[in-house]
Amino acid sequence: MLKTSHRSEKNKSATLRAVEEQINLLNQVLKASARSLRFSSDIEKQYLRHRNRRFLDVDIKIIAAGLLVYLAFAWSDFYIGGERAHELLMIRCSITAILFLGVIWIPRSPLGGYIVPLTAVGIAVVGTSVIYFIYLLEGLPRYAYHLGLVPIQVFAMVSMRLSYRSFLVTSVFMMLVYTVIASQIDLSTDTSEVGRIIMSLQPYFLAFWLVLVAMGGYLAYVMEAAFRSDYMKNRILALEADRLQILTRKLQLLSTTDSLTQIANRRHFEQVFDSEWRRCQRNNESLALVMVDVDAFKEYNDTYGHQMGDECLRRIAASISDGCRRSTDLCARYGGEEFVILLPQMAEQGALELANNVRQAIEDLAIEHRTSEIGVVTISAGIACQTPQHGDQSEDLIRLADQRLYQAKSAGRNIVLHNE
Ligand code: GH3
Ligand code: MG
Ligand code: MG
Repeated sequence: MLKTSHRSEKNKSATLRAVEEQINLLNQVLKASARSLRFSSDIEKQYLRHRNRRFLDVDIKIIAAGLLVYLAFAWSDFYIGGERAHELLMIRCSITAILFLGVIWIPRSPLGGYIVPLTAVGIAVVGTSVIYFIYLLEGLPRYAYHLGLVPIQVFAMVSMRLSYRSFLVTSVFMMLVYTVIASQIDLSTDTSEVGRIIMSLQPYFLAFWLVLVAMGGYLAYVMEAAFRSDYMKNRILALEADRLQILTRKLQLLSTTDSLTQIANRRHFEQVFDSEWRRCQRNNESLALVMVDVDAFKEYNDTYGHQMGDECLRRIAASISDGCRRSTDLCARYGGEEFVILLPQMAEQGALELANNVRQAIEDLAIEHRTSEIGVVTISAGIACQTPQHGDQSEDLIRLADQRLYQAKSAGRNIVLHNE
């Protein structure tokens, strides 16, 4: 785990770039859509899904309540419908039943994605039914139904507040139907006082309605704009949180990575060593430490130059890192041309095997070193292994591994030395 986190930085940079690009894109889309209230096509589809979810969660209940109110006005058909009462009641009940079925079925069907325009159609049907009642009746009852158009218009305003286009289409449609019907019928009433007042107000009815639609349209526009902008800002905020999280991880990785070799640095080794030492102490488990030093590296630098020396250190680090297979193994650059391998829960024999494999792997890299004894770059290593007890000092384990390393140097180099 520690090993892979130090070597998977490239992927993280790619993710960070993707998140930043997405943030820029959403900011541009937010700016561009400020007036038109339409995002670019992909984001518009995602927004509509979000709006529909909210509509299906909240507004569908408002629609059901609205339908019940429409049905409740059956009493007016009964009292003022006169000889047409039966017909009006039949129409009202049938429309309510069909629309109720729609309210129940549509959210569960593929048509759920079109719930807003379908609601607009439903409101137009209800409005048209009331206009039809106006057409069927005569005299004062006809005007009573004019009043019925007001709550329907207000209802359109409430339920279509997140789509000003649907609101305007439904409202203008109902007004057009009314205008056509009103031009076909005789709107005169009786000569009573009430009849005369109503007749005098009649020309203003369409003007009031128009003002209501204009104000409702403005309100729906403002609300839809606010809802859209909230949606985008929330998405941008979530991405900003992702970006911060990636940056924090990147920063943490940077502070624990050796810039030359891209494996863990000494600071990180010391932190992990400290916590592993205490963990092994608690659990009575063994902890092995391998100190690695490149042989005759000063000469390598003198022969091939510092840049080649750096490249050599990178290849050695990668080779050591490949040798650490378990997720809890940690290899780090200890300083200069020295490396350290920390092996929790590993006994001396396992550590010796691993260190020898690493030594062999580096020899097999066959990096030319013509002034060394065997002609290629090699390493020497010293191993110390201990089950830490209370009172033991962790520095002693490092010191012991270091001593073994220098014994290995004295013994001729390209050697791994351990306890026995
Ligand atoms: P020994 O076999 O006894 O370990 O001999 P050595 O030459 O490897 O040891 P010494 O300590 O004398 O020299 C270590 C050299 O490692 C000296 C230094 O220039 C080189 N070195 C340390 N850090 C770096 C580095 O980051 N890049 C390069 N190119 N060389 C480095
Ligand atoms: Mg050294
Ligand atoms: Mg050396």
